[in-house]
Amino acid sequence: MMKLLTDRTWIESSEFTREFEYPTEAGSGYCFDLGSDKLPIFNSEAGKANWFGCISGEFNVVDLGVVERDTSHWQSAIGKCECGEQHSMDGDIHCKCGRRYNWCGQELWQYDDPCLHDDVDWGMEEEAMELDAIEQNAQY
Ligand SMILES: [Zn+2]
Repeated sequence: MMKLLTDRTWIESSEFTREFEYPTEAGSGYCFDLGSDKLPIFNSEAGKANWFGCISGEFNVVDLGVVERDTSHWQSAIGKCECGEQHSMDGDIHCKCGRRYNWCGQELWQYDDPCLHDDVDWGMEEEAMELDAIEQNAQY
């Protein structure tokens, strides 16, 4: 079993953009991502040219100002393999030491590459049957 270092966490934050809209085409125009300093982030020379076109008045656009949007997402739990390597627990994990784990940190018993074998027993079937039995017993 992988040792859980941090739980899965719900992250809420805000993103800021500066938006410009064509006066005759609502919803159409330019939108620039802003950094934490509220300055535009340019990913290309074309984006930079568009920014200066908007703020200089060269483009016929209306400045809508800085727009804040709330964002949120799940940050995966962090687990630690027996060898000490840390992993983001967001899917099946294949550690460089050779151990394999499922997304919730349960070690899978067969370490060989499953693509090389047709008869791989990942050890999960027996455990799933045990869980089914426990759930069935809990209903009575
Ligand atoms: Zn490892």
